[in-house]
Amino acid sequence: MPQHIHCIVSNCHYYGQGNKCLASEIVVVSDDFGAKQPDTMDATQASTFPPSKASTCMETCCKTFVPSDSNQIHADGVTKSQSNFGGSNRTR
Ligand code: SF4
Repeated sequence: MPQHIHCIVSNCHYYGQGNKCLASEIVVVSDDFGAKQPDTMDATQASTFPPSKASTCMETCCKTFVPSDSNQIHADGVTKSQSNFGGSNRTR
């Protein structure tokens, strides 16, 4: 099933027109957990992350975010789709 992730963080490498996330997968984590992880720990390793809790949405973050001008874009193994919402034409 195609993902439908809406996001307005326009300087993210995975941000797409119409406020759509074009990442092949993302992981949302608690702020505390995310702050302790390197850029290489991301959605591709999400099944190994320990579950954690948050009290409000303000205590969660998209760990997959990477600035569009970063040299760490390829650090996590996540790919970017050319089309909206789960398209198959992926590129780095
Ligand atoms: S990876 Fe996260 S921050 Fe980047 S566009 Fe997708 S949801 Fe937004």
